[in-house]
Amino acid sequence: MPRLQEAERLEALATQIRSCVQCPLHATRTKAVPGEGTPSARVMLIGEAPGRDEDQRGQPFVGAAGRFLDQMLTGSGVNRDDLFITNTVKCRPENTRPPRKREDDTCTSLLFFEQIELINPGLIMLLGSVATKKLLGVNSVNEVRGRVIEHNNRKYLAGYNPAASFFSEDMPENIREGFALLRQELQKLAPHPDTD
Ligand code: URA
Repeated sequence: MPRLQEAERLEALATQIRSCVQCPLHATRTKAVPGEGTPSARVMLIGEAPGRDEDQRGQPFVGAAGRFLDQMLTGSGVNRDDLFITNTVKCRPENTRPPRKREDDTCTSLLFFEQIELINPGLIMLLGSVATKKLLGVNSVNEVRGRVIEHNNRKYLAGYNPAASFFSEDMPENIREGFALLRQELQKLAPHPDTD
């Protein structure tokens, strides 16, 4: 029963996100991208912001970075449908530039932190520096990469964004290491408290 209420509230949040006009990004987006997945996910994946394909389709990680993410998930034995995948910022910044502080602050305070509370995952995987800085308050992914971090009563893994795989030769291997760690941690994770 509690999950039903949370699922309804998540859907209400998604509706609010799709029509949000609280920051300048609403003017240039095609579709806002609330995120998708199961409300009782044990693991939540959090990226930066939608890119071009995500903006067109209204879904997270469905472009080239999404295809790379899917490969990583398959390699880790994780089914995408068992996760909840979202981004720190819900609308595409023009030309996929990094989100600005005002955009990031608006999205997180109004929408994003509540998504995390509603899903209440056992583990949050942060993909890239925007999500990592926001949730863990560090200056760089490298400060926390490669180990489980406990912060404000939640467990986190932080790694590079799959989109970074296109920018340097070492990146795909670094990203793969992050997902190998996800696989290990998944084996230790209890079922979601609200599932039977
Ligand atoms: N696609 C997303 O949805 N988020 C990212 O951070 C990168 C690509």
